[in-house]
Parts: sequence; structure tokens; C-alpha cells
Amino acid sequence: MIIAIDGPAGSGKSSIAKKIAKRLGFTYLDTGAMYRALTWKAMQTGVNLESEDALCKLMDKTSITFQGSGENARISVDGVDVAQEIRSPAVTNKVHHISGAAGVRRRMVTLQQKFASEGNVVAEGRDMGTVVFPGAEKKFFLDADIEERAKRRFGELQASGKKVSYEGVVEDMEIRDRRDSTRSNSPLTMSPDAIYIDTTKLTIEGLFNRIVREIKAALEN
Ligand code: C5P
Repeated sequence: MIIAIDGPAGSGKSSIAKKIAKRLGFTYLDTGAMYRALTWKAMQTGVNLESEDALCKLMDKTSITFQGSGENARISVDGVDVAQEIRSPAVTNKVHHISGAAGVRRRMVTLQQKFASEGNVVAEGRDMGTVVFPGAEKKFFLDADIEERAKRRFGELQASGKKVSYEGVVEDMEIRDRRDSTRSNSPLTMSPDAIYIDTTKLTIEGLFNRIVREIKAALEN
């Protein structure tokens, strides 16, 4: 069974996808981490972020894997754990170069489908329900007001010791939203058969209960 969860940054995807995966004993697939991982490697190795060809070549010689399972899965690049590094604002601001490159996306999609071929998966990202797993048994599209999403992201960054301003987070998030929803390759859009949930006023428990209810109903049918 595949559960696809899409939505913009800060919509609550990661927290809920991890929680659902843990509850159901499914594999958690964080596809944003994969785009971030290649961004990190490109920055480390000085690859031209504007060159799709160079980025595709880089992807072909890079091993992206997840160590551990469920909510504790950590991403590695060529065997090195980069779970921490890929969350830096520098990577966040550059990831659009990688996620906007059609050739890179094709490779990522193949890898994501391969990761999911071995069992039950909760996959989160921007194109899970539309492109990567169009046949997913259950699809969710999470959204929330920009202020609330920025507040959540600001809290996470502060908790991890990053020095950022709330206004800066709002601005970065608006730019990233615009890039993710207007790019020509697999833009962030809701699959027509996804369930739309506005998480602005929902607690994580409220959201969890709502999603588990929907999944149980799907399993019973
Ligand atoms: O989800 P997260 O914020 O970690 O994603 C980082 C970036 O990776 C997004 O802003 C988006 O550009 C890209 N992404 C994507 N497709 C996905 C997941 C993430 O384009 N399935």
C-alpha cells in the first residue's frame, strides 16, 4: 500500500508522514530529503547549479540511500549521513535548481519508485500523488496559511539552533512556494483524487486522527 502526502513547506507533511508510518509500520519516504541531498552534494563539489547536464551527471554518480527505518530513517550521500546538513538554509535556498531540472527529476522518480517497490510506504513530497505514485491507494494534500507554516518552520529552525528571523522565513517560504508551484516540471499541484486538508488550525493529533480514519476506511473497502 502506498500513502502519498503532498503539500507546500510547513504544511505538516513531515511530522504527520513520520507518525503515520510509525503507527502503521510502513516505510517513511522523505523525497524532499533526496532533492536536498543532491543539492548538498552539488554545493560541496562545486557543480554548476545552472547546468542540467552537470546535475544529471552528478546524480548518476551519486548514491542516495536511507539508513534505518520508519521515522528514524536518515539519509546518506555516498554512505555519509547528511541528515543534519541538508536542513541548512543554504541548501534550502538552492534546492530549486535541482528540483527544477527535468533530467534530475526523472532519475529521482525512478529511485523513489524503486525505494517503494519493496513494501508499504508513506511517501511525502510535492509530486507523490500526481507523478511518482499516481496509483497510490490513498492521497492527501496538506495546506495551511503562510503565517502558520512560517511559524512552524521558524520554530523548527530556532530549535535546531539556526539564527533566523520570522520575517526572513516568511519571505523564503513565499519564494519557495512560488518556485515549487510555477516550475514547468512536476509543479506542486493537488491530484484530483487527493483529500485536501487545511492544517492551519489542526493539532498534530487532530490531523493524525483524521488521516488514520481515512486510511482505515480505505483498508476496509
Ligand atoms: O519537503 P522539503 O521542504 O524538504 O523539500 C525541499 C524542496 O525539494 C522543495 O522546495 C521542492 O523544490 C523539492 N521537492 C520536489 N519534489 C518533491 C519533494 C521536494 O520538487 N517530491
